Amino acid sequence: MTSALDTDWMAQGNCADKSPSIFFPSDGVGVEAARRVCEGCPVKDQCLNYALDNRIDHGVWGGTSERERRRILKARGVSATVTTLA
Ligand code: SF4
Repeated sequence: MTSALDTDWMAQGNCADKSPSIFFPSDGVGVEAARRVCEGCPVKDQCLNYALDNRIDHGVWGGTSERERRRILKARGVSATVTTLA
């Protein structure tokens, strides 16, 4: 299981030497370009779980779009909204 604070895996990703802007596309073409970088990434599962655990709603993580992650969370019965304790 990936800890919410565990980010060591990021250095092993296919995107480690790429511009982060690739993963925050403004259209579907950009999403597909980011997904191609994610294909075969050795830390794809950790990346997706990190985004899901932290309810990251922007960008492509673990080869998934924002919409796909919302769908995954909904299927799991989890709210996509981050809640903070006061
Ligand atoms: S799955 Fe994609 S965004 Fe995540 S670390 Fe790998 S290349 Fe980067």
